Amino acid sequence: MNRSLLIKPSMKEEYPTVTHGEGIYLYDKDGKRYIDGSSGAVTTSIGHGVSEIIEAMHEQANKVSFVYRSQFTSEPAEKLAVKLNELLNADEDYWSFFVNSGSEATETAMKIAIQHWQEQGYFKKNKILSRWVSYHGITLGALSMSGHVGRRERFVSILEDYPAVSAPYCYQCSLKKTYPSCQLACANEIETAIKRIGPGQIAAFIAEPIIGAAGGVIIPPDGYYQQVKEICNKYNILFIADEVMTGIGRTGEMFGLHHWGIQADIIALGKGMSAGYTAIAATLASEKVMKPILQGSNSVMSGHTYSANPQSAATALAVLQYIEKYQLVQNVKVQGEYLLQKLLFELGESKIIGDIRGIGLMIGVEFVSDKSTKRPFDKKLMITNKIVGKAREKGLLVYPSSAGQEGAHGDAIIISPPFIITKSQMDELVSILKEVVLEIQKEVGGVGHD
Ligand code: PMP
Repeated sequence: MNRSLLIKPSMKEEYPTVTHGEGIYLYDKDGKRYIDGSSGAVTTSIGHGVSEIIEAMHEQANKVSFVYRSQFTSEPAEKLAVKLNELLNADEDYWSFFVNSGSEATETAMKIAIQHWQEQGYFKKNKILSRWVSYHGITLGALSMSGHVGRRERFVSILEDYPAVSAPYCYQCSLKKTYPSCQLACANEIETAIKRIGPGQIAAFIAEPIIGAAGGVIIPPDGYYQQVKEICNKYNILFIADEVMTGIGRTGEMFGLHHWGIQADIIALGKGMSAGYTAIAATLASEKVMKPILQGSNSVMSGHTYSANPQSAATALAVLQYIEKYQLVQNVKVQGEYLLQKLLFELGESKIIGDIRGIGLMIGVEFVSDKSTKRPFDKKLMITNKIVGKAREKGLLVYPSSAGQEGAHGDAIIISPPFIITKSQMDELVSILKEVVLEIQKEVGGVGHD
């Protein structure tokens, strides 16, 4: 074969060909080593090549890899549902519906919410309220709920016209307010939107507990989710937490919303749920949400061929058990605090970095051309691409994100290494990133300088 016919995210770019991974490192066919500083797409949370997981996968493959979900259930799928409910530790039980990607998980969440109301005779309660500066997935339903301009713009004419409100993006507040004097105006906007549209038309409000891909890690201020939950309860609107990126320990708590002691009605999980060892995701729905469905048609109107396949379920179960056994979520808290402080210390004064923010091992770095006005760089400079590309050249992988209210037009990266990263490995990660930032700073010349 002398030519690759593989369609890549950017056909203009050359990507290295990976050969293997070990711990926090990946290796390409030329033997070059990369620090997986973003766990791929915030996914490989326990690191690469973990033998306990590989053994569990092997063991399941020897039993049975696939059964169709309407012909059989399986022990690993049953156990996985029980384990997720246990980890959620809520005051009611949550049912699991397994899918294969985060987009499917949020889209299933949307369908379960709509079905929940339909089964009770509310046929018009079918809009999903969401936020700008958000990402819930690439399939059309998930994209309809996503406030990510860059990923939507080509398809807007075929998306559902779902309403969206402002994100709790304090660094670049679209309402031009400051916390706490804002009195959580962005949360209150949800109530205004509900009143305008009519609560009888809205099935659910969806939010990522901490915004990832669309905003470079946006952590809402205290009180925000309490307010959101109160508003949703007041108007009989379900609250969907998109924990695809934040779930399963990434932020130093098992679930992102645990930071605020808030319980969602429906939860979407993906990425870290199997830490990249297989494609599996899940939608968790509370007993309250499921009750009318169980008493009505008694079946969730969704599903995929690979839903709840035993091979993927056994893999995810092994990952969750591994995270618990080695108390990795505890590690995320400790390592995350160190990494954030180290980044602030080494890069906080950089002329092209506006903000460094993080929670657990989910850290965002936002780049601006002018720190005092927070003015973004000219889109044509492609700062994020340059940072990601240069870092890769130097053996560090970081996740390209976007920033700014327009989504995808501002520059940010996410740093989210595997939970097992050590202090010296974090020092190396920061030192490579610092080199990259200094080089880019030089390259952009006067911009971003005094
Ligand atoms: N929701 C969130 C919060 C995500 O970060 C992502 C992926 N970046 C998705 C949904 C979509 O997941 P997937 O790419 O697995 O479809």
